[in-house]
Amino acid sequence: MNILVINCGSSSLKYQLIDSATEAVLAKGLCERIGIDGSVLTHTPAGKDKVKIETPMPNHTVAVKLVIDALTNPDHGVVKSLDEINAVGHRVVHGGEKFASSVVINDEVMKAIEECNDLAPLHNPANLIGINSCREIMPNVPMVAVFDTAFHQTMPEKAYLYGLPYEYYEKYKVRRYGFHGTSHDYVSARAAEILGKTRNDLKIIVCHLGNGGSVSAVDHGKCVDTSMGLTPLEGIIMGTRSGSIDPAICDFICQKENLTPAQMNNVLNKKSGVLGMSRVSSDFRDIEAAANDGNQLARVTLDAFYYSVAKYIGAYAAAMNGVDAIAFTAGVGENNISGRVEIAKYLGYLGTEIDLEKNNVRGEDRVISTEASKVALLCVPTNEELAIARQTAALVTF
Ligand code: AMP
Repeated sequence: MNILVINCGSSSLKYQLIDSATEAVLAKGLCERIGIDGSVLTHTPAGKDKVKIETPMPNHTVAVKLVIDALTNPDHGVVKSLDEINAVGHRVVHGGEKFASSVVINDEVMKAIEECNDLAPLHNPANLIGINSCREIMPNVPMVAVFDTAFHQTMPEKAYLYGLPYEYYEKYKVRRYGFHGTSHDYVSARAAEILGKTRNDLKIIVCHLGNGGSVSAVDHGKCVDTSMGLTPLEGIIMGTRSGSIDPAICDFICQKENLTPAQMNNVLNKKSGVLGMSRVSSDFRDIEAAANDGNQLARVTLDAFYYSVAKYIGAYAAAMNGVDAIAFTAGVGENNISGRVEIAKYLGYLGTEIDLEKNNVRGEDRVISTEASKVALLCVPTNEELAIARQTAALVTF
């Protein structure tokens, strides 16, 4: 079965066509600048050269049509016709409390996703536009919604409720939801597999460290806590997001700098994190290079980032009353060799011991702790597209 995986943003659309039987990626690509001048589709068929198609994409429906054309094109296509696309899996950012797992899309599901728009105003409307465009062009192809929040719905009340008046939860559903759920789910399962165990027997902490980052506690297969909250702003220090701060800082800075709450929100989401701290870049490679060149602010920024991750690991080891495995994933987690060493330095009290030789790896599944380590440390590349394809295939088949 060929599954088209779609990740739709407000002006972009990423896709992969995956054969669910072999799990091979047949093609992948990206539409950029949808609805803006200079739209471009970059299509990469497996084993063939990348194709760049520069053509107007006034809306997402046109973009989806172009993706289908690219996938079925006689030269750079990978299937003969639309009939060979058997299902579509859509990444949807926020499923609120309504969706604790992936679901086959129908009108009722669309309405329920729309009702979550308030909780993710930048993401869910774009996800819905992507689904609507696909439904318009492929009305007979079954579609599945895979939510970033779903895996975290097993959190107990004590983990998801904030210390706020309860009425905000009752009236507006203000609570911790968590994000990157597809990745935390996939990586925790994969970590157990690499260890030759089942996830249901283990306490696992997943550190998804990318431009956005989150840490989760997966206790016997169920997420019991995660660092992102109502929005992806909470938690560890990120590329451009502040992570957790004293909430009183917002009013303080708004007054000092004469900012509106919306402007402050923008500062916290786009101008903070390691970008704002280091004044160098949001890219960890640039910050590391600057730190190695003697830039003290860059060094302190990296130290603060590793420290923020280590504190969440400590919190979640306490939440689960122990930990068997800690998995590092996403851009920084998979590739930043020295970063994993720095974080591991905080974990001696757990009996962890990183193996410097095994840790000398980028983007590969591997145990990176010594035989003697009481807690297994792992590098586990995430694969959200594959996870979405698997969940789509499972729901469409049965
Ligand atoms: P992601 O959001 O998962 O794509 O991760 C993006 C982040 O991964 C960027 O900040 C990159 O700097 C970081 N990254 C990618 N490769 C490396 C590397 N070799 N060393 C350090 N950071 C890396």
